[in-house]
Amino acid sequence: MKRIFPKKYQFVHEYSFFLHDILVSIIKEGEPSKLFEVKRTFKDDAEANNWNSQKLKGKEFWFWLRENGYEDILREYSQKQVFIATLSDFCHYIYTSLKSSEKGKLSVAYELIRKPLKENLLFLEWLLADPEEFSDNFNEGKVLDLAVSKISKEKKIKIISDALKNSKYPSWISAEFIYELRYSKKVDFGFEKLWNRATHLITNFEDFKTENENLNFVFSDDDAKESLWTQYYKILPFLLFHTVQVTLGYISKIGELPILDDFLLEARKMIGFTLVLNKDSKSDVILKAAKEMLKEFDLHCPLCKQKVKLNKYNLINFYKDSLLECRICHTVFQLNYNRTV
Ligand SMILES: [Zn+2]
Repeated sequence: MKRIFPKKYQFVHEYSFFLHDILVSIIKEGEPSKLFEVKRTFKDDAEANNWNSQKLKGKEFWFWLRENGYEDILREYSQKQVFIATLSDFCHYIYTSLKSSEKGKLSVAYELIRKPLKENLLFLEWLLADPEEFSDNFNEGKVLDLAVSKISKEKKIKIISDALKNSKYPSWISAEFIYELRYSKKVDFGFEKLWNRATHLITNFEDFKTENENLNFVFSDDDAKESLWTQYYKILPFLLFHTVQVTLGYISKIGELPILDDFLLEARKMIGFTLVLNKDSKSDVILKAAKEMLKEFDLHCPLCKQKVKLNKYNLINFYKDSLLECRICHTVFQLNYNRTV
């Protein structure tokens, strides 16, 4: 059988799945640990008795909370529930998109990342940037305020910027650039132009006119397909990495999960990211942070005791299997790290 998926995208494809899997782990770890539930200690017996379980169902519970002055619970509950629902939905879309790309169905692959990157991710960013503002809009029923297309460019950039400020590496990328990758109709390096081509057979907008006979990618020739793949894997890991940072930022604010302390996973995420960055897209903040993390590991060969060089080959081994190979005596060894958490 002819292999459809080009080998040169294999690594970045796997890395994108790796980032997706981190997001899935957050959901899997968070639910049993009741991280997305709200805990309440009653002030006194009177309050405890007032919590009639008959009232505590669905909409009625919602209204009862508001009528009885439990706005704080309402807020916390809606923030957590929106977070988990938005993130689960995000993961479904990304998973199916990556699978479609693997099969060469690029029109579908592009269409499936549109909603999660333009809508779901903005809600996650907003929940990290200003959870109260977000849930107040949600609770007051101002649904229109949450319609992403109605939120101005300035407001979106402010949300992204505040989310970055609340995440682990606030300056690894600019909020404007993240905005352009997802929403700008003008730039060639973003997704918006391609999304419009993928969705509409022929658009009337001057900016979105499709190439001759290149309707909805269906008739795309091999070169066009190649350039669609290139663009997909150039941008998607950036936005997935950003999503992971935003999500971990939010989680660290609301509680604790084992994944937050998984140093090896964190190191693999950073090293994998430096491997997918090319010359034009290198981020000094991430490279520096990845190097700092590597210092935590014992990089000496257990046999000849020489320091092992971190060339690209070894960085890939490190990312994939936590293994390194000594260039002097060719011993392959499992990494130990010095850190004591
Ligand atoms: Zn050695």
